[in-house]
Amino acid sequence: MKSVPPTPLIALTDIRRRYGEGEAAVEVLRGVSLEICAGEFVAIVGASGSGKSTLMNLLGCIDRPTSGSYRFAGRDVAALDADHLAWLRREAFGFVFQAYNLIATETARENVEVPAIYAGVPKDPRQAQAAALLDRLGLGDRLDYRPNQLSGGQQQRVSIARALMNGGRIILADEPTGALDTRSGAEVMSLLDELADAGHTIILITHDRHVAERARRVIEISDGRIVADSGRGEAAKTGRATLPDLAVADTGHASLSANLREATRAAWRVMRINRLRTALTLLGIVIGVASVIVMMAVGEGARRQVMAQMGALGATILYLENRSAPDGSPPRGIDDGDLAEIARLRSVSRVMPTIGDPVTIRYGNRDARVYSQGITTDMPSIHKWPVAQGRFFTEREMRELAPVVVLGSKIYEQFFLDGGNPVGRQLLIGNTLFEIIGVMSSKGASSGSDGEDKRVFVPYRSALVRIYQRPVPDYVVVEAKSTDLVDDAEREIRALLAARHGQEDFSIDNAGARLNAEMASRRSMTLMLGLIAVVSLVVGGIGVMNVMLMTVKERTREIGIRMATGARQRDILRQFLTEAVMVSLVGGVAGVALGLTLGGVLLLFAVPIGFSPLAGLGAFGCAVATGLLFGFMPARSAARLDPVRALAGE
Ligand code: ADP
Ligand code: MG
Repeated sequence: MKSVPPTPLIALTDIRRRYGEGEAAVEVLRGVSLEICAGEFVAIVGASGSGKSTLMNLLGCIDRPTSGSYRFAGRDVAALDADHLAWLRREAFGFVFQAYNLIATETARENVEVPAIYAGVPKDPRQAQAAALLDRLGLGDRLDYRPNQLSGGQQQRVSIARALMNGGRIILADEPTGALDTRSGAEVMSLLDELADAGHTIILITHDRHVAERARRVIEISDGRIVADSGRGEAAKTGRATLPDLAVADTGHASLSANLREATRAAWRVMRINRLRTALTLLGIVIGVASVIVMMAVGEGARRQVMAQMGALGATILYLENRSAPDGSPPRGIDDGDLAEIARLRSVSRVMPTIGDPVTIRYGNRDARVYSQGITTDMPSIHKWPVAQGRFFTEREMRELAPVVVLGSKIYEQFFLDGGNPVGRQLLIGNTLFEIIGVMSSKGASSGSDGEDKRVFVPYRSALVRIYQRPVPDYVVVEAKSTDLVDDAEREIRALLAARHGQEDFSIDNAGARLNAEMASRRSMTLMLGLIAVVSLVVGGIGVMNVMLMTVKERTREIGIRMATGARQRDILRQFLTEAVMVSLVGGVAGVALGLTLGGVLLLFAVPIGFSPLAGLGAFGCAVATGLLFGFMPARSAARLDPVRALAGE
C-alpha cells in the first residue's frame, strides 16, 4: 500500500504582510511558507512583536496578506468574497483570544450561541448545545452570567466553548493563557490538549516556550520569518481535511425572520442597558411624532372650523347696504331697478333683498315682540338652511304679496307648546293676518347661536307692503357665481351702483372674500405647523443617527468579535439598522400616545382639534422611516469595518 501524503488543510506560500504605505511601511510578515494538516496541534512561538498575531489573523481569514498565497483545503482564499470568508470563519475556525473578547452585554450562553446564530441554527438546539458545551467546560452553573461576573479563566472557557459551537474544526488560540493565572492557564492548556486528542486542529500562539511544548509541533517565528519547525507529528499522518465543500457553501443560510428576531432581541437588550441614552434619543422622536400629530390636528381643526363657517355663510356671499354718501347726502336706497341690474351681472348668480324689524306677533292669546324678516325664496338655499315642517314660500306667493309666514324653530316652540302642527294656522303680524306655511329647522344646532331661530320669515314684497310700508330693502345678500368671482362681483356692483346713483351711497361687505382669506391663512398656518413638526422629526432623526454613530464607535470591538465568529456584513448592517428602527418604533408609539394626549388636553380647553388617522399613521411611518434613513449610515459604516481593526477596538 502506497501512503498518499494528506492534502494540507492550510498551505501558506511566501506570505507577506505590510502595514502602512511608502516610507512608513513596515513589513511584519516577511515571506512565511507553512503547511498545516488537519488534526495537528501546532504551537507558533516567538517573541512579542514577531508577527504571531498578524499571522493568526491571516490564517483565520479576518485579514488578507499583502502578497503570497493562502490555500485552504486546496482552495485559494484570495479568490473568496466577503460572504465566503465569513462562512469559513463560521464553519471552519474558532477563535480564542488572549483578551477573551466576549460580548459584554450578553450572557455566557448567549456569547457561545453567537456563531450558531450566524450559521442559522434554530433557537432551541442552539441554546441546548451552548448549555451542553458550557457544562462540559465546567460552567454549567454560570450560563446566565455576564462576562464581568466571571473570572478570567471562566471567560476563557466561555470563549473556547464559543470556538467549538459550530464544530471548531480549527481552533486558533492567540496567547490563550496570557492573561490567566497559572492554574487557570494549565486548565485551558489541558482543555486544548483534550480537543487535539478529539481530532480538532489546534493552532496555538504563544511567546512562552513552556506552553509551546504542550503542542505536538512547534514552529518558531522571529521578526516575521519562520526560523524553526519541529515538523509534523504523528497525528497529521492520519488527519484529513474534512470540511464541507466551499463551492456549495450556503452563505445566506440563516432565515431572515430568525435573523430579525435575533437582531430585535439584541437591539432590545442594548436599549435596556443604555436606558438613559435610549430615553434621551427616544425623546427626540417622541417630540417629533407628537408634534406632527398635534400640529396637524390643530391645523385640521382650524380648517374644519372655517369650513363650517363657509357651510353656514357660504364663501360666495356679499352684503350690500345703504349708507350716506361721502358728502353726507342721504342714500337713495337700493330699488327694484338696482336689484334687477345686479342680478344681470356676469359674476352674480342670485340676489336676495332683505328687510326686517322687530314687530309684535300674536297667536291665540299669546303675543311677543320678535324679529320679522322679509326675504326671498332663495333664503333656504343661500343659507343652506332647510325647512323642518311644511314648506317655504314660492315665487308666486312673492309676486302676489301673499300673507304667508314661515316660523323660526324657537318661535314655533314658544307659540306651540303642545308641539302641534302649525301649518294652516293664522298668525297676526302687526295688524295683518298671515298664514303659517312652515317651520325652519333649528339653526342654533349648527351655528351655536339661536338668534336666527327667534325670527319669522315672510315674502320680501309682502313684508314691504303689508308690514313695514317702506320702499327699499335694509340690505341685499348677493351670491357670486363662484368663490373666485366674489371680488369681481364686488367690483361690478360698485361700478354699477355708483353709475346708477351718481354717488357712493352704499357699502359692500365681501364676506366671501373674508372667508376665503381666512381659509388661505389657515391653510398656510397648517403648512407652517406641519413644517415645524417635520423639522422636529428630522432633529429626532439626527439624534438617532448621533446615538447610532456613538454606539457603533463604542461597540467596534463587539462588531469585530461578531465578524470573527462568522457574521456577514449584512448581519452587522441588519443588527444596527434594527437597533435604529427599534428606537424609532418605540419613539413612534410613545409619540402617537403623547400626541393624542396633548390633543385631548387641547380639546378640553376648547381648541378646535381635528385628529386625522392619516396624520397619525404618517407620523408613525415617518418615525420608522427616520430610523431607517438616519440609522443606515452608521449601520453601514459598522458593517464595513475591517474585522482586525474592529477587534483591536480602533
Ligand atoms: P505578536 O503578536 O507576535 O506580538 P503582532 O503580529 O501583533 O506581534 O505585531 C507584529 C508587528 O506588527 C508589531 O511590531 C506591531 O507593531 C506591528 N503591527 C501590528 N498591527 C499593526 C497595524 N495595524 N499597523 C501597523 N503596525 C502593526
Ligand atoms: Mg500577539
